[in-house]
Amino acid sequence: MAVTGRGPYDPQNVFSKILRGEIPCKAIFENEWVLAFYDIMPKAPVHVLIIPKNPYVSFMDFSQTAPAEEIAGVMRAAGQIALDLGLEENGYRLITNAGLHSGQEVPHFHIHLLGGKALPAFPA
Ligand code: C5P
Repeated sequence: MAVTGRGPYDPQNVFSKILRGEIPCKAIFENEWVLAFYDIMPKAPVHVLIIPKNPYVSFMDFSQTAPAEEIAGVMRAAGQIALDLGLEENGYRLITNAGLHSGQEVPHFHIHLLGGKALPAFPA
């Protein structure tokens, strides 16, 4: 079921549990700003989720309340992960679902990184 994308932040959401180590994930990258791991239901040959370590419900509050340094850190990490995965030559797609109309399901801001094949025309 889609979530509103707005607060209050629920510390029992699945990504918060992953960040606390209460639920396993297949992590591929971590730094001071983000944790990145493979999506459990991949929609492309490469499907990674990049999540901030801090508690933002969606892009709505991340974009408006996170310090500029953190926004830069998260976006830089997304680009670095794509580079590390060898996606630069053929390209990739970044998506973030925010709120009800987007179908956002997990109320912790996350960026989908999709690649590894020619993706369907947007939106898909
Ligand atoms: O953007 P949205 O909130 O719909 O995406 C949530 C994503 O989190 C889904 O692609 C789902 O497969 C993924 N997920 C995951 N591991 C979990 C729970 C959800 O990778 N334990």
